[in-house]
Amino acid sequence: ILAGGKHVVVVGGGDTASDCIGTAFRQGAVKVTQLDIRPQPPEKEDKLAVWPYWATKMRTSSSQAEGAQREFQVATLEFVGEDGELTAVKCCEVDEQRKPVEGTEFFIRADLAFIAIGFAGVPEGGFLGELGDKLEMAIDARRSHNVVANEVDYRTSVDKLFAAGDVRRGQSLVVWAIREGRQAARSIDEYLMGSTLLPR
Ligand SMILES: Cc1cc2nc3c(=O)[nH]c(=O)nc-3n(C[C@H](O)[C@H](O)[C@H](O)COP(=O)(O)OP(=O)(O)OC[C@H]3O[C@@H](n4cnc5c(N)ncnc54)[C@H](O)[C@@H]3O)c2cc1C
Repeated sequence: ILAGGKHVVVVGGGDTASDCIGTAFRQGAVKVTQLDIRPQPPEKEDKLAVWPYWATKMRTSSSQAEGAQREFQVATLEFVGEDGELTAVKCCEVDEQRKPVEGTEFFIRADLAFIAIGFAGVPEGGFLGELGDKLEMAIDARRSHNVVANEVDYRTSVDKLFAAGDVRRGQSLVVWAIREGRQAARSIDEYLMGSTLLPR
């Protein structure tokens, strides 16, 4: 998928959305619009804000600074297309409860859209989906569907199937993926050979 020559819409307001914006610009996108469901933060943070409120302030990533048009308090209602090709994204404004405000619907031209609103876990279908109920899954606090395996031997409920990294712990960081990958490799070696010299 390349964004060159395309009108791009990025749904989401986090780091992944910024990565999508920056990559789209580098590939030569004509225009990149970012949709954030949250209200536009103030230029300066409210230092008196106390828990559970967060003292946010308007931040601009280097990718956004390359020229992304940022829309705040906007929900994505529909991806509109013709002959199987995306042509527009239907949006509307939302109130403080993120409920659509009637009569505020509008369309943004789009040839390509990225949904960057959080890691949802293991996608349905695919070879993990084929394992059905045999593979124990769990939903974590972030509503991510993850494969169940412990951090000792990384074995799943399916014989000879090990899991490590994001698929096991949900959306995380490279350092955790490296750590778990190394530990899982050790466990697999031990399983296959009866003992292992690999570090934990
Ligand atoms: C846009 C974005 C930006 C990020 N930025 C950062 C950052 O700045 N710093 C940071 O620490 N983390 C960042 N992360 C998170 C980080 O990328 C992940 O935590 C990390 O890559 C997880 O590693 P993993 O090996 O568990 O999974 P992945 O890196 O997702 O690797 C899984 C691999 O399995 C392959 N695969 C899937 N299905 C199959 C199959 N059936 N057969 C064979 N192969 C298959 C996939 O193609 C993929 O290569 C970012 C994530 C995203 C999406």
